Amino acid sequence: MKWLTLIVFIVVSFEAYSFVILIDPGHGGEELGAVATVKMKNSKGKTYHHKIFEKNLSLRLARKLKKNLDPYYTVYLTRSIDRKVSLQERADMAETVKADIFISIHFNAAHDKKSRGFETYFLGNHNDKAVKKMEDIENKDLKGEDKIINQILIDLVIDKTVVSSKKLANHVHSYLEKDIGKKFKMRNREVKPSLFYVLALSKRPGILIEGGFMTNDDEMKVINSDRYLDAYAKSMTKGIIKFFDSHPKKDLPLF
Ligand SMILES: [Zn+2]
Repeated sequence: MKWLTLIVFIVVSFEAYSFVILIDPGHGGEELGAVATVKMKNSKGKTYHHKIFEKNLSLRLARKLKKNLDPYYTVYLTRSIDRKVSLQERADMAETVKADIFISIHFNAAHDKKSRGFETYFLGNHNDKAVKKMEDIENKDLKGEDKIINQILIDLVIDKTVVSSKKLANHVHSYLEKDIGKKFKMRNREVKPSLFYVLALSKRPGILIEGGFMTNDDEMKVINSDRYLDAYAKSMTKGIIKFFDSHPKKDLPLF
């Protein structure tokens, strides 16, 4: 009986380990992403302004997420240091490592300094003007002809991935809502379809999370803390585990 338990354990562990996750910290290098200015005090008590970039915050969260997922799956980062990586390069990496899912990590910015909350996106068509504004910011890397070619690709990828991606988004977001929403009093901006090119180009079931608004001073204090980022990574991990537990490898779309 003991042997049987051991064999079942090994088989289950192997099955889990065979899932590959590619985590994508948004921006990097000269692409700063959103910028927040926070007030700091030096050793003499004098106030000074310090700039924090989305590229660094997204990398911090991505590293924490990888650490949480490492015991269960094979996990890669599209960048582990501060360097520029094009959207196409990020997507190519999904192919190279044969990723089963793609997780892109971002933080938000808005002209309205009161905008606040966290949201989870999956690749899908929509007519939401606010989401279109967001896409313009995050898709900035692609221009003109690239965008036209990609519209055909996007429709094809949506067709194949939308069911899995939506499930993944819902699992992750429901844990975020429970843990982040309540504990940190963060506004829940829900799960939404979007046309972020990095999700389309990766050709995988995937999500893009926006972990809070860097342009909101009060929210920035919360999201810039290790306590918040640790909790965010933990919730995402629970959601990803739940997704794979209910989603055998054979059910994942192949390209
Ligand atoms: Zn971003």
